[in-house]
Amino acid sequence: MIIVLLGPPGSGKGTQVERISKELGFYKISMGDLLREAITKDDEIGKKAKNHLVDGKLVPDYLVLEMVRRELEKEKGKGDIVFDGFPRNLNQAISFDRLLNLAGKKIDIVLYFDIPFALLARRLSQRRVCPRCSTVYNLETAPPRSHNICDKCGSTLVKRRDDSEKIVKSRFQVYERETAPVEEFYKRRRNLLIKICSDGSKDEVWKEIKKHIEKKSYKENSNQKGG
Ligand code: AMP
Repeated sequence: MIIVLLGPPGSGKGTQVERISKELGFYKISMGDLLREAITKDDEIGKKAKNHLVDGKLVPDYLVLEMVRRELEKEKGKGDIVFDGFPRNLNQAISFDRLLNLAGKKIDIVLYFDIPFALLARRLSQRRVCPRCSTVYNLETAPPRSHNICDKCGSTLVKRRDDSEKIVKSRFQVYERETAPVEEFYKRRRNLLIKICSDGSKDEVWKEIKKHIEKKSYKENSNQKGG
């Protein structure tokens, strides 16, 4: 099964993608994490992507598409994949269809993380992340057990550079201009969009997501059995 997580910055995709991967065994492709890793490694893609991330702008399509192609190559044959933060504009969505076609795959569901705009800026200002294992915390609603230390691996938590007030503004603008049309594309042209109310607790959101994934997988299994 292929799942795409779509939603504005701070809508909780990063937290839920971890659970989909750990609890349901999906192979995770989180574009933001992959790009940050490439920047840390200072490899060819990282060098080209760096300034775009710092400014809160989209990295050029050819770079993210190359990354997706490599990840699909790595995943080969394992089956279930969840994409977080990709596609982020219409060109990526259309190129993604082509890449999946070549790999004999198709998107099964697009989960759209719906949340009141006013909550997003607050969430991002309180967000801290583990630079080692990418676990996401919120100082108000989901703090680590020890101040600023990752519960899972003991690393010191950091605030993402692009979570500063100024860059967040630019990321919201980019979302409205580039990514909102992708929502419409999956909703009206592909009929794949499922809305998830993501202003609840992490567990409430998770329950809703799991319900949709299980329902889809049940439908697929009974279709296969029924021929
Ligand atoms: P995220 O961790 O998903 O918020 O992504 C952080 C940053 O990575 C974004 O602000 C972009 O600069 C870049 N990025 C992530 N995914 C993409 C994508 N699909 N296309 C272009 N840039 C991306």
